[in-house]
Amino acid sequence: MYEKVLDSQKVTLCRQWMAEGQNILLVSHTNADGDACGSILGMAFMLDQATGEGSCVTPVLPNGCPKQFGWLPGADRIVSGQKERQRWRELLAEADLIVCMDMNACSRTDMLAEELREKRCRKVLIDHHHNPATEEFDLIFSMPEISSTCELVVWLSELLWGDRYMGREAAICLYTGLNTDTGGFAFSCEQPSCFEAAAKLVRYDIHPSEIHNCIVNTFTTNRMFFYGFALSQRMRIYPEQRVAVMAFSLDDQKRFGVSGEDMEGLVNYTLLMKEIEVGALLREEVGRTKVSLRSKYGVDVNKIAQRLGGGGHTKASGATCQMPLGDTLKAVEKELGITNVEPVGLEIEQ
Ligand code: 5GP
Ligand code: MN
Repeated sequence: MYEKVLDSQKVTLCRQWMAEGQNILLVSHTNADGDACGSILGMAFMLDQATGEGSCVTPVLPNGCPKQFGWLPGADRIVSGQKERQRWRELLAEADLIVCMDMNACSRTDMLAEELREKRCRKVLIDHHHNPATEEFDLIFSMPEISSTCELVVWLSELLWGDRYMGREAAICLYTGLNTDTGGFAFSCEQPSCFEAAAKLVRYDIHPSEIHNCIVNTFTTNRMFFYGFALSQRMRIYPEQRVAVMAFSLDDQKRFGVSGEDMEGLVNYTLLMKEIEVGALLREEVGRTKVSLRSKYGVDVNKIAQRLGGGGHTKASGATCQMPLGDTLKAVEKELGITNVEPVGLEIEQ
């Protein structure tokens, strides 16, 4: 599908490195999403077969597999760099090949970043974010135009090994990343290849509706009540600027017993409003604030995220601001062209 972009010399080298790998680490970013979990696990299942006898393939996530994706086949194999610090250090010391996936720079692994950067061994990047840190990797497959890292893994694995190592478990993992990074095939899926990859995976006896249930229909009642609160009490709507911003303090999160994982997808609700083009969600953490940005028409939120010290994709990006919620809110609203404007209030007739 992308044979022209996936240079055959690079593919050959990758195949050779993977075949020679004795201790291979598959690493993705902090607060992993479906594409991060799906790509490292999908690749792990295939590498289990592609590598020689006695070799060891380990998927690693900086802060572990989120509960939301605990149902993925192989999720229990994922090593949490944070919780299993010693294990991570041993794995890193022994690694002869590290494949970083769905991240464009070591910095996306936060507390593992420095050790990862300093480790000397073969390093491959398989990713679809803009601006890969080229100096940090020896072999780079970077395709910002592709829907997801999981789609990239579908096409890259086909070039590496044909269909030899693709199977049901890998297909479930890879389909999950395709699904989540396109919001259920709603955005970032302009290219036919996205659906062709999905079609290919569906042939491995996987069930999209079951996977959808596992991904989407999973709310706890607390999370549902929190969404009600978020939409009615914490949404700042600026129709003239075509922007909506939600902001949650640590207290808000404590009150409903919710965490970052529970807010996955919440920012997309801003775009349900016809007149809103850009939505932002701010979530306070201890000493910093996470920002999520989404757009549905032409606005490039990646550029806005970059100005806030983050990055991502044209229609979905984010940043981590080392500031409290209030200051971050001011900075985000300024970047979105909102200064000295009051958000619209509820207009309910008494
Ligand atoms: P989310 O809003 O779902 O957390 O992230 C959307 C996208 O924005 C991610 O896929 C990632 O590409 C990017 N992103 C999120 N947080 C950060 C961050 O702190 N730094 C950078 N560079 N990119 C981020
Ligand atoms: Mn992704």
